[in-house]
Amino acid sequence: MSAYILVGVAWPYANGPLHLGHIAGSYLPADIFARYHRLFGSNVLMVSGSDAHGTPITLKAESEKVEPREIVDRYHSSFLRSWDRFGISFDLFTSTMTQNHKDTVHDIFTMLLQKNYIYKDKMLVAYSVDFDRYLPDRYVSGTCPHCNFDQARGDQCDNCGQTLDPVDLINPFYTREYKNYPVEIKEAEHLFLRLSAFQDELNAWINDKTTWRSNVKNFTIGYLNEGLRDRAITRNLEWGISVPVEDYEDRRIYVWFEAVIGYLSASKEWAQLTGDKDAWRDYWENPESRSYYFMGKDNIPFHTVIWPSMLLGYGGLNLPTNVPANEYLGVEGSKLSTSRNWAVWLDDYLNTFDPDPLRYYLAATMPETSDSNFSWSEYVRRNNDELVATFGNLVHRVLTLVHNNFKGCTPSGTVDRLLAEKANSTLVQVSDSLNSSPRFKEALGHAMNLAHETNRFLDYRAPWKQVRENIEDAADTLASALYSISCLKVVLYPFLPFTSQKLHEMLGFSNSIESNGWEINPPLPSSPLPHPAPLFQKLDDEIAGEMVAKLGSNAK
Ligand SMILES: [Zn+2]
Repeated sequence: MSAYILVGVAWPYANGPLHLGHIAGSYLPADIFARYHRLFGSNVLMVSGSDAHGTPITLKAESEKVEPREIVDRYHSSFLRSWDRFGISFDLFTSTMTQNHKDTVHDIFTMLLQKNYIYKDKMLVAYSVDFDRYLPDRYVSGTCPHCNFDQARGDQCDNCGQTLDPVDLINPFYTREYKNYPVEIKEAEHLFLRLSAFQDELNAWINDKTTWRSNVKNFTIGYLNEGLRDRAITRNLEWGISVPVEDYEDRRIYVWFEAVIGYLSASKEWAQLTGDKDAWRDYWENPESRSYYFMGKDNIPFHTVIWPSMLLGYGGLNLPTNVPANEYLGVEGSKLSTSRNWAVWLDDYLNTFDPDPLRYYLAATMPETSDSNFSWSEYVRRNNDELVATFGNLVHRVLTLVHNNFKGCTPSGTVDRLLAEKANSTLVQVSDSLNSSPRFKEALGHAMNLAHETNRFLDYRAPWKQVRENIEDAADTLASALYSISCLKVVLYPFLPFTSQKLHEMLGFSNSIESNGWEINPPLPSSPLPHPAPLFQKLDDEIAGEMVAKLGSNAK
């Protein structure tokens, strides 16, 4: 029976366009992982959606003087276009504005309330006398009590990553239209999630995770060692999901509590859409099924502590198998910043360049265990040296030799034993690197090694001479190279899906490469091959300088 693999990807706030930090942090690794497992033959369900609630949305709506829904609709449709253009293959990308999501949130909320994991208590909240309103956490700024960063937000410190409450902040203030106003702290009744009840179970659960990335595991252990505090999960807001409790009409469920439930509600929505409304259960209720959550490091505690607590409290649903969170991607040596507009925006990139060279570069420098950097000159260098020179030229010279010397049909020859063994072991190595605790750079390294090895093989055999001297030797060499290229098509597919499909067709196949499976299937001898065309375009070195100049002139 093939495995069931749930791939959950962090829900982006629908308040702005996507940049390369988002892509390298979660969407690309999740997509590579999902594509590998689909080709391998597993049942994969990859879900996410627009986070429609929360103050990032209302802040943006207030600044544009429009309704929050208008902001969400605008960016949700832009996300869908971006996934399509960049090849991020969601099985469902929905939003937290659906009735299904609201029902699923109410179901979990009510169960936790009945089991006494949610309770009423008084709490201190931020309030502005000047505007006669309660202030959502993110509207409040101040000094972080952990690291003294003086621009910490009321929900989280961007400097040290600690989650915060506005009352934790030293010297809290509220900024509105470039002016700072004092913040008063008042007492109010709210509903709390009893996180402290899950401390022991989570301690034991995390200690078991021997294959997790050490940065994710250590962050989580540090978080748990501070002792879990119960947290308020309602707020005085108008925008968000209603609280299914009497006398709470003026309050909403806090966004971090409901957004993580999106993984489950999206799975249910997907099942409805497939026509089998119970299909989600295979991914959530079968203890043999595996679930992986992809996100940037700022989101770790929500997926390794809070969501697992909610799942434990609810009961009967699988906890995360692995949370391979990434570190941050910088741009041209500096920290990426949307407020300073120091970022490369995905749509801008796609308006000028092809998706696969960026997928390749971001995978090759993925911030898996430490921060990494995007630079345009490295992008151009890797495109030209690695994609064009190593992989693209390999394919082009083999297919051109076949075309010119074997009447456009694959030669019947004997595949070299050593090269075949190298290809066969590459298939296994890439699979091992991607299977359960994904190491993307390592997987891509194995694949590119095979391309290098095949180039060395061709240089040694020199089939361009063999075709004049001994056509049977040439047939052996080219059949060997075609075997290796047929392996590269498969092992590079998760990274370069558009290119692999193109190569699949250049090798004479008319179906989707997804039906090939995780196997080496070279074209049969004497199969006609279409005219070869280059897989990649060489980029002018000057492009890097132009792109850096554009980045600098757009920055604030
Ligand atoms: Zn801090």
